[in-house]
Amino acid sequence: MMEKLLRDVEYNYNLINERISEAAQKVGKSREDIKFLAATKTVDVQVINYAVSLGLEYIGENKVQELLSKYDDYNLDKCSLQFIGHLQSNKVKQIVGKVDLIQSVDSVKLAKEISKQSINKNVNTKILVEVNIGREENKSGVLPESTYELIDEIKDFDNISVSGLMTIPPISENSQEISEYFNKVNKLFIDISDKKLDNVSMDILSMGMSSDYYEAILMGANMVRVGSSLFGARDYTK
Ligand SMILES: *Cc1c(COP(=O)(O)O)cnc(C)c1O
Repeated sequence: MMEKLLRDVEYNYNLINERISEAAQKVGKSREDIKFLAATKTVDVQVINYAVSLGLEYIGENKVQELLSKYDDYNLDKCSLQFIGHLQSNKVKQIVGKVDLIQSVDSVKLAKEISKQSINKNVNTKILVEVNIGREENKSGVLPESTYELIDEIKDFDNISVSGLMTIPPISENSQEISEYFNKVNKLFIDISDKKLDNVSMDILSMGMSSDYYEAILMGANMVRVGSSLFGARDYTK
């Protein structure tokens, strides 16, 4: 069972890398310009570490509890561990110092807590601001028109570095519609980059998942977050 799974992961890993290269080339970039992060929720650490052994450089968890339960077993020598899910302020303390970057910051309160815990642990934590580009009621993220304001308010907090934007567009079958959302976030990313704010380096534009990472790269993403296309369908019953 496990051997078959690992063979599939290797096959998928190579395929995704090829598609990333192809999309990158279409927009005048190369494979190295795009960061491939594996979304590892529900995936066994043994399988994650196998992907890391193939060359995977970024992994992202989206639940604090799950990250902590796997933490001691990840092979992080050559791989960056990031947090990509919704984060409550009262759980920040548990992951600061363990993750290199938190992709899902959408409030001053959350940024302030990440700063405070990073000062306590004497580390620097990179953060991305999550944009709710579809203006969805029940979704995390800051509204597009409030993104600049949020960044401006948090950029001088100690021990955090605003490093870019992240988005999860609304679920849609229409790839044209999804591409338009990606395009809007890309424009926001460029607008904010152009302001050249002190203490802000707009390095990372994290968008695109299994079903749409190719389109996201065409629309300017330089980090994609891929789960099921790499590891297979998630088993939430475990
Ligand atoms: C699970 C997850 C992904 C990857 O989803 P897939 O559709 O399986 O590729 C990307 N981003 C976030 C924030 C996730 O939670």
